[in-house]
Amino acid sequence: MRRKIAAGNWKMNGLKASIGELEALKASSEGATCDVILCPPATLVAAMADVASGSGIVIGGQDCHWNETGAHTGDISAEMLADAGAGAVILGHSERRADHGETDGEVNKKSVAAWRAGLQAIICVGETEGQRDAGETLDVIGGQLNGSTPEGATATNIIIAYEPVWAIGTGRTPTLEEVGEVHDFLRGKLVARFGDEIGNGVRILYGGSVKPSNAAEIFAVSNVDGGLVGGASLKASDFSGIVAAAN
Ligand code: PEP
Repeated sequence: MRRKIAAGNWKMNGLKASIGELEALKASSEGATCDVILCPPATLVAAMADVASGSGIVIGGQDCHWNETGAHTGDISAEMLADAGAGAVILGHSERRADHGETDGEVNKKSVAAWRAGLQAIICVGETEGQRDAGETLDVIGGQLNGSTPEGATATNIIIAYEPVWAIGTGRTPTLEEVGEVHDFLRGKLVARFGDEIGNGVRILYGGSVKPSNAAEIFAVSNVDGGLVGGASLKASDFSGIVAAAN
């Protein structure tokens, strides 16, 4: 039995005033039986980790460098995130792959760095609309999973997020059958590479226009172990409905 996860990605949104949303989420998600992870911008990680302390809500980063320290202006290391109180980090989000040209190899190195610092690596994969239309979805996702996930993965040090690029922030979602097809495929790939115990233990999240109104049906699809949520994680009133669906 895999415990479900409701993970929120605030992207480049949120000022100190937004920390009130975490206070509200703490109250509304008390007693949750799923794991709750919230990934604010780096500027809010330390303050939100303090607020989340003792609640069971894990605060995460949205990216990290693969080095521990050094001359990398503007970057943040996994150790810095851990030092600020983070317990997880999103890696290889399609916006980083598109905006910063991140490759599978870099995501792989970042995942190793996350483990070095004791963080869970939330590794994102997903096809573009053109790739889906060309029938390349499984090839693309299989390649990203293979290239981005290092040897040494366990059921607890990685979380995979399947996020079709065309469903992110668009209000469009794949059909439940399409979601199921990709999640079953990812499960098979994980089992083939890491064996039954690890492969069946890794949580696979769906991301892309998850809302309180569609979360329950998506989370009920086989091999969907919860969601990675962008827009609907910004307000506790929305995100708490998604946490409830993951319980
Ligand atoms: C995301 O960017 O991880 C995401 C899933 O965004 P949204 O929920 O807004 O589609």
